[in-house]
Amino acid sequence: MSLDVAVTTGGPALAQERRLLTAVPGPRSVELLARRTASVSAGVGGTLPVFIVAAGGGVLVDVDGNSLIDMGSGIAVTNVGNAAPRVVEAVQRQVAEFTHTCFMVTPYEGYVAVCEALNALTPGDHAKRSALFNSGAEAVENAVKIARAFTRRQAVVAFEHGYHGRTNLTMALTAKNMPYKHSFGPFAPEVYRVPLSYPYRDGLSGPEAAKRAIGRIDKEIGAENVAAIIIEPIAGEGGFIVPGEGFLPELVEYARANGIVFVADEIQTGFCRTGDWFACDHEGVVPDLITTAKGIAGGLPLAAVTGRAEMMDSVHVGGLGGTYGGNPVACAAALGAIEEMREHDLAAAAQRIGDVMIPRLRTIAERSGRLGEVRGRGAMVAVEVVVPGTCEPDAATTAAVARACHAEGVVVLTAGTDGNVLRFLPPLTMPEHLLVEALDIIERAFLAQ
Ligand SMILES: *Cc1c(COP(=O)(O)O)cnc(C)c1O
Repeated sequence: MSLDVAVTTGGPALAQERRLLTAVPGPRSVELLARRTASVSAGVGGTLPVFIVAAGGGVLVDVDGNSLIDMGSGIAVTNVGNAAPRVVEAVQRQVAEFTHTCFMVTPYEGYVAVCEALNALTPGDHAKRSALFNSGAEAVENAVKIARAFTRRQAVVAFEHGYHGRTNLTMALTAKNMPYKHSFGPFAPEVYRVPLSYPYRDGLSGPEAAKRAIGRIDKEIGAENVAAIIIEPIAGEGGFIVPGEGFLPELVEYARANGIVFVADEIQTGFCRTGDWFACDHEGVVPDLITTAKGIAGGLPLAAVTGRAEMMDSVHVGGLGGTYGGNPVACAAALGAIEEMREHDLAAAAQRIGDVMIPRLRTIAERSGRLGEVRGRGAMVAVEVVVPGTCEPDAATTAAVARACHAEGVVVLTAGTDGNVLRFLPPLTMPEHLLVEALDIIERAFLAQ
């Protein structure tokens, strides 16, 4: 397919502007959409049918030459920006040297270097080990395997509004039926769900909500049967629910007192997204195991479990692995991405993004009455949309605002168990002028409802 527009490469060199040359989607995207419909399973969903040819900084450029403001980062993946220079360099070098050996057959340094970096960057200064996988769901599955092998127990506690993936075990851990679980059962056994801390809706302090959850674990499962408690420090797909202060520390304390492995699923919150390396850092929470993926490798598929050496090493030799886990090209990308995060202090960039977004969204809330709560941390920000004057979830308005933003060239994502959350996950390389322009468009979309 030839392009009239002058897009030859992605990355930060792309013009950092919103530019609409056609309707969204434009005619070339519409043509590709027809091919997609005829060739790709209808079961694979889609937020916005524009086909991308280049991306970088804060923009996505489509086949019709439209330049869209990216407020999604491919779901919290391109934290370092698309086609980030150090990622591109590292991948190009590695892909020309060798593409695969299988780490379990003949190892290579990149895998070890990624594990060393994860052991150093994740919370806590105890001895750690890591293992690498391909996707977030696979990392979560392996965290459960490790916790069960270490404790010789079976039960796993997950939370309401939790999301952990789409494989069988991680569907069981995930709270929301549609679209993730519907018609796909039966699900893995020995998974129990307890209430999360959700200050906007439960009115409880963090410690009160922890007491409620712990009471349920004690009465319905029994602490001595529990291998692992797994939680997202900020619920992602569930709607960027930030638990009350004290909730996570109390759960960690309970887990520690009862020989339960505390697993933080930082797949969405990790790698500078919330203004720290990891969301657990905010309250000084030190998980036993931490799962990472998404932001880890600048867009290449990679995931990890990192945790206490005695837990990670408790599994029999050969019990963990996979053909592609820790692929050398993905490892090179991760090392490049981590360099980008360090060099440009992207944790501080995430905080600056939050400092621009949150006050502005609160102003929009005052004007519109449809924004029940503005919440989040760093560059992980959401608004919960409600019927004005009530706390009633309003999924229809949420979808309408998202559609209006898409039509204006701003890519936003929705979330929430009730589908009434607009979530914002800009690349941490988002220029401020584009962030402000996106907020202007979001405001207009809300005020037009
Ligand atoms: C996206 C996500 C997963 C699943 O990751 P995949 O790479 O899509 O398998 C698991 N946990 C959380 C918190 C996520 O956001």
